[in-house]
Amino acid sequence: PAADKTAEVVVLGGGPGGYTAAFRAADLGKKVILIERYPVIGGVCLNVGCIPSKALLHMSVILNETKDMAAHGISFAEPSIDLDKMRAYKNSVITKLTGGLAALAKQRKVEVVTGYGKFSSANTISVTAEDGSTQTISFEKAIIAAGSRVIKLPFIPHDDPRVMDSTDALELAEIPKRLLVIGGGIIGLEMAQVYDSLGSKVTIVELGDTIIPGADKDISRPLLKRIKSRYENVFLKSKVTHVEASEGGLVVSFEGKDCPTQDTFDRVLVAVGRTPNGKLIDAELAGVAVNDWGFIEVDERQQTNVPHIYAIGDIVGQPMLAHKAVHEGKVAAEVICGLPSAFTPMGIPSVAYTDPEVAWAGKTEDQLKAEGVEYEKGAFPWAASGRSLSIGRDEGLTKALFCAKTHRLLGAGIVGTNAGELIAEAMLAIEMGADMQDIGLTIHPHPTLSETLGFAAEMAEGTITDLI
Ligand code: FAD
Repeated sequence: PAADKTAEVVVLGGGPGGYTAAFRAADLGKKVILIERYPVIGGVCLNVGCIPSKALLHMSVILNETKDMAAHGISFAEPSIDLDKMRAYKNSVITKLTGGLAALAKQRKVEVVTGYGKFSSANTISVTAEDGSTQTISFEKAIIAAGSRVIKLPFIPHDDPRVMDSTDALELAEIPKRLLVIGGGIIGLEMAQVYDSLGSKVTIVELGDTIIPGADKDISRPLLKRIKSRYENVFLKSKVTHVEASEGGLVVSFEGKDCPTQDTFDRVLVAVGRTPNGKLIDAELAGVAVNDWGFIEVDERQQTNVPHIYAIGDIVGQPMLAHKAVHEGKVAAEVICGLPSAFTPMGIPSVAYTDPEVAWAGKTEDQLKAEGVEYEKGAFPWAASGRSLSIGRDEGLTKALFCAKTHRLLGAGIVGTNAGELIAEAMLAIEMGADMQDIGLTIHPHPTLSETLGFAAEMAEGTITDLI
């Protein structure tokens, strides 16, 4: 049958990867259709991920800081918390951004088709709208950007409203008295912090022997120390084996070294990771290979095994981060338009926007050790930074890892206030092949937290001065 619509480029999924690809392809002159199941574009990141979580974390840091100030002689009254207003603020941030995106799509004449898209052949996608109506879109090239979804656990009653995933947690339905967070990764820790600062008694349970498994332990340790002192419990090397919904609460069974065998919580947040949506789009009808985990494998041009079909973002693999999706989206659009682009970054920065923030870029020390790379290290403790002492937060650390032969920066890890902003300099240095002298000789403003990267480089060089 004839297609209802035709496009030179069709993009399946309107998250950060998808809209970036669609906009870039349109800017390069292509007729583009962007398919998104929800009425707004922006994907997980804008609607239920990066942005709403950061809006809430901003408020959480203010709550924490005002409390911490008591030790420095300024006491505030107990904060009064209006969840409806907090939620409205968070939603207003989302609406501004998604509204902006809709305008950007219109400006570029990117047609947004709302509905759930599935491949029906190697050159057609059929889109089913909420009312059940379907239309067929035929395309010359396709970019799959259908993202990921939360992982559910079989032994947890996910349909009980007291069991939350990250999307539910961002809704701030209530402040539970006792909250259990299953999973000590970035998303679990960020949401734990929001609820802790609002007054919940938080317990974290994590299978591994530390929080934030991707980061070096010395970089995550200051965060672990702080949350251990604030939260009701942090159980490492422990797991939840069952959750039973009862009238009095959620009865949770544990297995592990230091945890009880059973305890009852008012709410449970399940944050054990995300799984790609590769198996939900009938990719096989287009001949696109999807691996057992649901990921679509691509080369550095973002091309799948079917040459005119590309894939980007969470659906192609780890790390599942918005900035990775965005860069991959640009590459896919540019390759389609005949440009010599490829996704070959020297690293992808990761940030936990916790308090303190934990950030790393390039190789971790664990990775360098595992790969047998010879490296030199400069690790500058923030207890020696005038700026961090003056803001009352001296628990941070800036670590820079250099190639022993070339002295080039291979990786960096930062923990402390604003680490997420500070890591960008390290990422730039890695991309540009900067060595320890380049960084050490770069004059950083004093007193700033940014100086700590310069100091770490000087420590590696052995030329550190005593400037505080
Ligand atoms: P997605 O954002 O998942 O977008 C995919 C889109 O495709 C969705 O809009 C979906 O509705 C649509 N879709 C899927 N299937 C179909 C279909 N068949 N038909 C039509 N539409 C479809 N990353 C960061 O970098 N920084 C952060 O601070 C951060 N915080 C996060 C906090 C939370 C709570 C969560 C859950 C995630 C966070 N992430 C963060 C991860 C980030 O959101 C994702 O990496 C990013 O959104 C991936 O972009 P994407 O374009 O690949 O896919």
